[in-house]
Amino acid sequence: MIDLHTHSTASDGTDSPARLVEVAARAGITTLAITDHDTTSGWPEAAESAGRFQIGLVRGAEISAIARTPGWGTGVHLLAYLHDPTHPDLLAETERTRDDRTSRARRMVDLLGQDYPITWDDLLAQTKSGTTIGRPHIADALVAAGVVQDRDEAFATMLRPGTRYYVGHYAPDAVAAVQAVRAAGGVPVFAHPGADARGRVVPDSTIEELAAAGLAGLEVDHRDHTPDARRRLRDIAGSLDLLVTGSSDFHGAGKRNLIGENTTEPEVLEAIAEQGALEVLR
Ligand code: AMP
Ligand code: FE
Ligand code: FE
Ligand code: ZN
Repeated sequence: MIDLHTHSTASDGTDSPARLVEVAARAGITTLAITDHDTTSGWPEAAESAGRFQIGLVRGAEISAIARTPGWGTGVHLLAYLHDPTHPDLLAETERTRDDRTSRARRMVDLLGQDYPITWDDLLAQTKSGTTIGRPHIADALVAAGVVQDRDEAFATMLRPGTRYYVGHYAPDAVAAVQAVRAAGGVPVFAHPGADARGRVVPDSTIEELAAAGLAGLEVDHRDHTPDARRRLRDIAGSLDLLVTGSSDFHGAGKRNLIGENTTEPEVLEAIAEQGALEVLR
């Protein structure tokens, strides 16, 4: 059972990297990827835990990016697997994204603080130092303040784009991000490319553009994809010769996604391992 998309407390998951690996091992996962948003800071702890619990570990990250689509840009996520975490171009981009995520969260908390009892200190109480800050942490602060029941309720109400509290954040251009992941020796896979609940889905032409820039695969099997979306993406992957992955996008208690609910075929993991600069830890 291979699950190549999960989050820890290094970003917006609720399990520490060590605990995430333990949860995966206990659920019968044989190879896990840790893919926190815009950071690799969970890697050492996850690697240590993978050794202890004897499961394979793919070191990865989920890179925020903006795809040029007709009319305006669309926020997208790229899974990067087995890249050199010190490569300067990718590191500079993810650092810039993380910095701006923090400023953006400050702005959102300021706006929310005008109507609800939350402050920046309440948000900091929900994160460890070095965490990539996202809206889920703002949601946690709202839950702690008794404003909403859970992250889902916060996302369905005040954290949605379009509300007066929503603020966007910096992210690199998606073509440049694919190139930066490849330059760092990583394997770029487009995360949940057909998840329309989050907003607009990119057209085929954007996927073609990313494939020409070096995209390795599409995450087809994901909870946020309808059967129609999966068929469409499988067809595109076939015609562009892209790998097809499936994964849970597990965030611990922070989301409904269950570890291993979607999985990736062993041949696909092998292809990723062949293309990546780092070893899969076993
Ligand atoms: P951000 O990265 O700050 O824009 O926040 C988006 C993140 O929030 C995504 O990566 C998801 O992991 C998470 N998210 C989106 N919707 C929900 C939800 N309904 N419940 C919990 N987490 C969510
Ligand atoms: Fe997330
Ligand atoms: Fe994502
Ligand atoms: Zn994710």
